[in-house]
Amino acid sequence: MGTGYMPPMRSPSVVVIGAGMTGILLAIKLREAGITQVHVFEKADRLGGTWRENTYPGVACDIPAHMYTYSFEPNPEWSHRFAHGDEIQAYFERVGRKYGVTGSIHFSEAVTRCVYDAGKWAVTTSRGRQVIADFVINSTGILHHPAKPDIKGIETFKGAMFHTAEWDHSVNLDGKRVGIIGTGSTAAQVIPEVAKVAGKLSVFQRTPQWLLPLGNTDVSEREKDRLRRNPAKLQRLRKFYMWGISQLLTKAVTGHKAQNALFSAICKLNLRFSVRDPELRRKLTPDYKVGCKRIIVNTTFYPAIQRDNVELVTDGIEAITENGIRTRDGREHALDVLILSTGFNPVAYMRPMDVVGRDGLHINDAWKDKIRTYRSLCMPGFPNNFLMLGPNSPIGNYSVIAMSEVQCGYILKLIERWRRGEFDAVEVTESAVQRFAQYVKAGMGKTVWVGGCQSWYLDGDGDPILWPYTWERWEQEMAEPEMADFTTTRFDAVPSPSVPMESTMA
Ligand code: NAP
Repeated sequence: MGTGYMPPMRSPSVVVIGAGMTGILLAIKLREAGITQVHVFEKADRLGGTWRENTYPGVACDIPAHMYTYSFEPNPEWSHRFAHGDEIQAYFERVGRKYGVTGSIHFSEAVTRCVYDAGKWAVTTSRGRQVIADFVINSTGILHHPAKPDIKGIETFKGAMFHTAEWDHSVNLDGKRVGIIGTGSTAAQVIPEVAKVAGKLSVFQRTPQWLLPLGNTDVSEREKDRLRRNPAKLQRLRKFYMWGISQLLTKAVTGHKAQNALFSAICKLNLRFSVRDPELRRKLTPDYKVGCKRIIVNTTFYPAIQRDNVELVTDGIEAITENGIRTRDGREHALDVLILSTGFNPVAYMRPMDVVGRDGLHINDAWKDKIRTYRSLCMPGFPNNFLMLGPNSPIGNYSVIAMSEVQCGYILKLIERWRRGEFDAVEVTESAVQRFAQYVKAGMGKTVWVGGCQSWYLDGDGDPILWPYTWERWEQEMAEPEMADFTTTRFDAVPSPSVPMESTMA
């Protein structure tokens, strides 16, 4: 560190909401930037987000594990190519401890309300605490509101019933008659595990899915040792996977014909050669393009669905009854346990938290007609407030960790300007949001998501909530905030605690 005089930097107070993958990242990076007044609030009693919540049998990440890490904390210890959920949870807990952020997280304390006034956010928590912050960053995740199906009679079922994200480990499935509603990414992981122990498993499929057969191989002790001793090799492996997914899978879903043809052929051949019975194969054949719904990376679902104790039910569900499910063909499927693998409400984002921006604008009113953000990160009317992994940030099957790091860097650059005293409040302009919406929409026509299927990728208007272009374009466009897209304000009366730059960088 240099010893020359540097002008004092203001030190902001920052509230981070949520201690999942993005909240941990922010806590680490804010601290590294010398920002010490950081409150991280977490509603649960442990960090980990998705990986804390989802404990269903078979839970794993279908992004290669060596890529599913923070860039600054590669992990040579992964036991499998696709890591199991508990191993990923352990990774985040270890990172939290290593970087000294776990101890400072306010656990079991949810943020209930954030109200903005003249450059400051008043943040209220479930414990009645109030914190005044210069910045609020919503690290509340995307898929964290379980969607329970609105099926007639659901409340009458007498057996055990739970959503996959709220797995009830006290329910013993051994020998039981189990029903699973849904055949998405989660179900494809759960079904093979439940099939191993259930007496009879009935899988209620509304829409079939395309499956990409990438098996989950072990990482040998020898390989782990090589990766431990050779960090450059570990980084190369991470980059190799990032390259592979961005050049092949991401491009396959964002309008690149050759890549889409490749994955279409693989998925179709996978179904053809994995499922022998033509009638079952017909039921499992989607009528939409590969990638329209999220491509499921899996080699265990097709063998499981062909087991003697498993039945694929494709007649629509008419009602849930006291004893099971009645399908539209009039059949009663008797069940002891009903598992809802019915996905999430992805468009809630930080809600139901009360967020009240400039001039009393409530987030529910701001998003009444359409959820709109600028670069998925910020909203007009909500100065100094950011949203991690907001709309149009997921890129089909790419690692959300890589995206979060880019978003985190972008936010830190804006906060850096605040620290230098350029403004007290920064707010994206309405016209920038409109331009961004048009820009995103212009790319959507080429993607497979608008290829005639229903999925959580689409909002209420049928517009995809994903990023329609390449990963490289995302990284490039997010490298530096375009200040012309923001209005900035100074409030003379705002007290700005200042600390010498030297001490913040200690
Ligand atoms: P999902 O992909 O949204 O699938 C929900 C399933 O439930 C679909 O098969 C859907 O059928 C069905 N369903 C919903 N409501 C229904 C109803 N009323 N009646 C009958 N069927 C109904 O949810 P998910 O499987 O939990 O996956 C969500 C996302 O989580 C994934 O896309 C992925 O991004 C993430 N995830 C990732 C991994 C990983 O390994 N990285 C693992 C699990 C999940 P329709 O298709 O007909 O709507």
